[in-house]
Amino acid sequence: MLNLGVLVLNRSYLPIHVTTVRRAFALVYQDAAHIVDTEYRSYAFDEWFSQDPQPGSDTIGTSRGPISIPRVIVLRSYDRMPRRHVRFSRANVFARDDHTCQYCGERFPKGDLNLDHVVPRSHGGRSTWENVVTSCVECNRRKGGRTPEQAGFRLNRQPARPRWTPLASLPLASHRHDAWRPFLRVVDRSEAREPIAV
Ligand SMILES: [Zn+2]
Repeated sequence: MLNLGVLVLNRSYLPIHVTTVRRAFALVYQDAAHIVDTEYRSYAFDEWFSQDPQPGSDTIGTSRGPISIPRVIVLRSYDRMPRRHVRFSRANVFARDDHTCQYCGERFPKGDLNLDHVVPRSHGGRSTWENVVTSCVECNRRKGGRTPEQAGFRLNRQPARPRWTPLASLPLASHRHDAWRPFLRVVDRSEAREPIAV
């Protein structure tokens, strides 16, 4: 029970992490986080312990009687949990760039996108967040082995390491709990428009 997944929200109620019940209780006990119930109410440690278990919820026994297992917690400040490292990958570069070619500005399905080295590898360009962008096949072909300046291309924006956690990288797949759904929906929607600031 103590190793079940608990969804961690940042102060803006955006999911950033999944932790264990044990760790969630520790964060709440330290007042670094509050527990969130299905009605979006939040509870400090004592408030959660002093109420009766929520109807239909899983409980654990404590010296003060049974208490509900939290499913969702919200951090009280931004810096209590280290930012997750966003893995440099094809899918995450596409997600960072919103599946939009950084040269012509058109959005494409994954299959029609390439990764482009802004400074080509032949010029010493490296495979980093700062030097790799999403490009459509056509722009990629026209740019060839040249820098944007040489090819007369302009980047839509300067590429950088993302400051968000792509939803797909949260370990949600196997243990997506019903109580998480309202919070995940918010992200599913907002992620389509812009990266999540964490
Ligand atoms: Zn393009």
